[in-house]
Amino acid sequence: MVILKSPEEIEKIRASGQLIGKALEHIGRMVAIGVTTMELSDEAERFLISSGAKPAFKGYKRARNEPPFPACLCTSINNEVVHGIPSPKRRLCNGDIISLDLGAAIDGYYADAAVTLPVGKISQGARKLLEVTQKSLEMGINMAVPGKRLQDISYAVQSYVEGFGFSVVRDFVGHGIGRTPHEDPQVPNFGKPGRGRRLVSGIVIAIEPMVNMGTHEVSIKDDKWTAVTADNSLSAHFEHTIAITDNGPQILTQVSKN
Ligand code: MG
Repeated sequence: MVILKSPEEIEKIRASGQLIGKALEHIGRMVAIGVTTMELSDEAERFLISSGAKPAFKGYKRARNEPPFPACLCTSINNEVVHGIPSPKRRLCNGDIISLDLGAAIDGYYADAAVTLPVGKISQGARKLLEVTQKSLEMGINMAVPGKRLQDISYAVQSYVEGFGFSVVRDFVGHGIGRTPHEDPQVPNFGKPGRGRRLVSGIVIAIEPMVNMGTHEVSIKDDKWTAVTADNSLSAHFEHTIAITDNGPQILTQVSKN
């Protein structure tokens, strides 16, 4: 069931979203050769907690008999798609790409965002993958308006990505968000135009294209969390939390510059 949010609730999600956006900018500036993924996660956690926010992912369980996610930040490097677990042993190397995925709540309202960043000098192919993934998110967001259908978002992402010969991951999807970090509706990054639920003002969703250079297929590592591309090709991930409103899509996790 999709829970519509009031304008007041959207402002609460925006407050969380602004903090997440700032946290991602802050830890993004720490991304450099030699830094460990645990240092990034620890700093993200300090940043959120010192601002009175509750990290969404630390301790998060997908199912009762699954291990909880052990850290605040998901750090997914190169062929890792999403849900990479930070480690004090994993140091960033020149040429890596790293996705940082962060969720948190202030006052009980969650927001969720992700970026993928280069470490040192990356290949031309990797740079193109980041550009296309980020742009595909924008294409999806442009469709998040009342009167469109859910899969108009999906189709916009998929058709843009596939136009460059890249593929969209199917095993993970975007999602509704609000009082809980994941709620209805699911927001796939693949679909057909004109299909799915009709979009109305008050729907708040996280749109999050995960784009692979090779096959769309993924597998899960023995840690039960880290998703990797089946062919070990590079993968990128960008995410924003969006409110659908009569004034157009509101990007709640984009830090406002004024
Ligand atoms: Mg998400």
